[in-house]
Amino acid sequence: MRNENLTRREAAGRSELITVQGYEVLLDLSAAADPAAESFRSVTTVRFTAEEGAQTFLDFIHASVESVTVNGEELDPDDVVEGSRIRLPSLAAANEVTVAGRARYSRSGEGLHRFVDPADGQVYLYTQYEPADARRVFANFEQPDLKASFRFTVLAPEGWEVSSNGVRMSAAPAPEAERAGAVRHAFSPTERISTYITTVLAGPYHRVAGEWRHSFEDGSRMSVPLALYCRAALAEHLDAKELFDLTRQGLTFFTELFGYPYPFGKYEQAFVPEYNLGAMENPGLVTFTEEYLFPDGATRAQYQGRANTLMHEMSHMWFGDLVTMSWWDDLWLKESFAEFMGAHASVQATDFEEAWIAFANRRKAWAYQQDQLPTTHPVVADVPDLEAARQNFDGITYAKGAAVLKQLVAFVGYGPFVEACRSYFRRHAYGTTTLQDFLAVLEEASGRDVRGWADSWLGTTGVSTLTLDLARDDDGAVTFAALLQDPGPGVLRPHRLLLGCYERGPGDVLVRTGTHGVDLPAASCVEVPELVGSTAPLLVVNEEDLTYAKSRLDALSLTTALSSLSSVEDPMARAQLWAGLWNTTRDAELDPADYVGAVLDHGLAEPQAGIFQNAADRAVEAVERYAPTARRGRLRGRLLDAVVRELRAADPGGDRQLALARLTARLARRDGSHGGWLRDLLEGRDALPGLPLGPELRWALWTALVATAHGEDPALAAATEREQAADRTRTGRIGWARTRAARPVPEAKAEAWAAITGEELSNDLLTATITGFQLGPAELVEPYREPYFAMLEEVWAQRSIGMATRIVEGLYPAHADLEPGHDPARHPVLARTDLWLSNHASAPAALRRILVEQRDHLLRALRAQAAARA
Ligand SMILES: [Zn+2]
Repeated sequence: MRNENLTRREAAGRSELITVQGYEVLLDLSAAADPAAESFRSVTTVRFTAEEGAQTFLDFIHASVESVTVNGEELDPDDVVEGSRIRLPSLAAANEVTVAGRARYSRSGEGLHRFVDPADGQVYLYTQYEPADARRVFANFEQPDLKASFRFTVLAPEGWEVSSNGVRMSAAPAPEAERAGAVRHAFSPTERISTYITTVLAGPYHRVAGEWRHSFEDGSRMSVPLALYCRAALAEHLDAKELFDLTRQGLTFFTELFGYPYPFGKYEQAFVPEYNLGAMENPGLVTFTEEYLFPDGATRAQYQGRANTLMHEMSHMWFGDLVTMSWWDDLWLKESFAEFMGAHASVQATDFEEAWIAFANRRKAWAYQQDQLPTTHPVVADVPDLEAARQNFDGITYAKGAAVLKQLVAFVGYGPFVEACRSYFRRHAYGTTTLQDFLAVLEEASGRDVRGWADSWLGTTGVSTLTLDLARDDDGAVTFAALLQDPGPGVLRPHRLLLGCYERGPGDVLVRTGTHGVDLPAASCVEVPELVGSTAPLLVVNEEDLTYAKSRLDALSLTTALSSLSSVEDPMARAQLWAGLWNTTRDAELDPADYVGAVLDHGLAEPQAGIFQNAADRAVEAVERYAPTARRGRLRGRLLDAVVRELRAADPGGDRQLALARLTARLARRDGSHGGWLRDLLEGRDALPGLPLGPELRWALWTALVATAHGEDPALAAATEREQAADRTRTGRIGWARTRAARPVPEAKAEAWAAITGEELSNDLLTATITGFQLGPAELVEPYREPYFAMLEEVWAQRSIGMATRIVEGLYPAHADLEPGHDPARHPVLARTDLWLSNHASAPAALRRILVEQRDHLLRALRAQAAARA
């Protein structure tokens, strides 16, 4: 719809003019169970004060607008509805506006998403709005700083669970005039919150109730009702006790840490299907992807990830919901904190004490990757409009921001940091803030000048590389040591970090024998005299992961790491070493085969589940993207053989067994050599005792078998048909779509292309089809390269940004190989991308950003291929 892309300037103008008191919103979802119903009735009444005589507009992405009433006067919708905006001419000092119309059910996960469960035909609804999709459901002033109280009323079929941010005050038969036969659910008005965190949940959800009670030091008490929701089909997999335990641990921890009691009355958590992200911090009703329920079994790393997300969202009740950024430039104010608090609370309040290791190992890789793209941005970003906002939910805003906060805590100390948070909540409760507000409380609490720190860490881009420069004598003892900082295209920054020295102990285990604190100023070099005399064979830069930087190993430490990584005693140090090796591989300074070799020698033996999974996942990436074509098949075969060997020998029912089985399925997508055995497993002729062979894993294996078959295999096709007929789950549908698209025949690719570019698929099925499309021999997808570039602008114009992003990223011809002896920079896909970019200089910035990023990922892969041993 025209003019959806609200700009920062427009938002600022609007908040100068008006102050919103409250909304009353009526949503009629009583016909939602009828698949033929494409839209629902939505009526908003909003009260606000304004500068008298001024004009402004409401946002409403609608199916229709039936009436617009301003202060009792009916306006003609034809006069005032312009695209996604409703013009409000000539305002009074105090205003009441009512907009009645219809809005559409969503299939893209944006707005009010409707999911029909293939298992039982039941219909489930939930909302997802950030940054600006509440306007897809009801008319409002869609920007974070126009906070207001919201009172929702929802008409729903009898027997449905309905929830929202507020407490449900009543559920009674709807009056005849509204909707006969429906139930009318009325919710209490919310505290003053932003539009993007309002929410409604409706459907035959399974619900479990609980409670959290807390006693404060002064003897006062507080109790908060808890609830969990999921689809009925998943009820038996909702591990309510575990989830409630985590929830109570978190509420106690944050309430005490922040010195500010939980502000939103109740705390409900819903696990919903076809969700575009991990979770969303709607006050009082947090939504999570149902991938966090584990019908197929899960590893400890998955449970840890879920706990981390649960804590992340809960911390948002304070950072983000109670105190909100004024505009999306300061998105980091909530996301970096929540990312930090997700790990911090996991370590402090739960059994997942490895959370910071997972952060160092996995989340920071996301930041390093993003920060080396040409499109990177400062943590505090310049976000001129909503499309730009939408793209900044990225590795910089989350992981780099949190890493920078960790460095901030090392800089000012934990106590002052917590004190600053407390003042921040007291001072700005229910309000909005910018960076300056946070710096102010930080300076008060720490007594230090943090502006310089903020300038160098929050206002700049890029990641430095830290290297130890050592001289050794003939006995290997260090005679000179300095820490070097290479800022790359970025800037030199001050770093406060630790160096770890590791020496061989009994049983050849590498144990830490010392740490040295280093204050590296914003300079390219600082001497480290403490290391002089050391003969330690392994020196770890950024021990404990206090700062944000890539680290390179000195020559002796690299040799030690490659030969003995699994003998390093400390898991955080191992995680850091794996991260270092991976960054070095991505920078084309370590041969991909050496990374894979390290995984074969040490990664597969790694006892810590998260580190193991990460190292193994990257080995697959090293093979599929960074290894030169001529060596790829052999390297993949070696890795797959080793993984299958380990899988057959793994303890029944353990984490490793499950992780290795998934890894096997990933590698087998492009290597059919174990296909016979995998087929036997699927069809019950062989078994791995203890392995939960659930729909997800089964379909991963079917996809692999189909993608590596020689053309269309009728017996295999019949087998997957049988699987499909027997498996009516959501996972089954996704697996089927992916497997169909993976068939290595031209008709399958044509069919998949038509489905992707048609507009029938939901978000999940779209991605599944794209994934399948990209599998199989390269020559099958090559004919789609030109159509891909030809359709980009149209896709961007016609689809929501979420769906368009899935298509533009997912179909980019990224699996391109470098011909031996060719120059990576002159690769035909790069050249074609450059041509498109130069011919479409005025294409939307958000679309161009995706192309520029995909181009850069490809160039990096091609450079690694060129630099690798032939
Ligand atoms: Zn968040």
